[in-house]
Amino acid sequence: MLSKRGMLRLWQEIYAMTADVTPLGYDCGLLCDAICCQDWEAGVGIYLYPGEEMLLAGESWLERTWHDHRRYALSTSWDRGAWFVTCTDWCPRPIRPFGCRTFPLTADLREDGRWELIMDPNGLPICPLIQWGSVHLLQPTFRFTMEQAWKKLLAVAAIREEVMASSRRRRMRLHQGGRR
Ligand code: SF4
Ligand code: SF4
Repeated sequence: MLSKRGMLRLWQEIYAMTADVTPLGYDCGLLCDAICCQDWEAGVGIYLYPGEEMLLAGESWLERTWHDHRRYALSTSWDRGAWFVTCTDWCPRPIRPFGCRTFPLTADLREDGRWELIMDPNGLPICPLIQWGSVHLLQPTFRFTMEQAWKKLLAVAAIREEVMASSRRRRMRLHQGGRR
């Protein structure tokens, strides 16, 4: 288990390596009026990954709510819950959360430990890139950088457990006929 200091260093490294990559060779927000940065549905927001909150403490454009693992079926490996955040204003781009950097990709982790980057099914109703339906239409540099970043993140037990829990929830929704 990484110490809090180790986790902070990891997130600093992840933010640095993903600072400038984007899904397309141009601003994909032009395709959709940057809908993923707007309140496209009541209550939309993202979870910070374990330890990421240390980089974002005190940011005034970010509203955060603590979600306890007992109520929200979250992993217990890091502080027994997770921070759910919404932005109340445009963020300073260098410090946007990792969930915004990796979107429309996310990691799908299976029970046998294998993982892959997939288009995030939660974004299907809004994101033209997800609607295109293939990760191969995204810039290779973006895919490569995100793969490297996720590899480092998934090496940390607390993050791997959280991603395992969200991958399970995603598969369950798929099984129940919900959106993938
Ligand atoms: S919704 Fe998709 S296409 Fe639009 S800005 Fe977000 S990532 Fe880009
Ligand atoms: S934090 Fe920034 S990148 Fe993420 S949704 Fe808000 S404005 Fe968009």
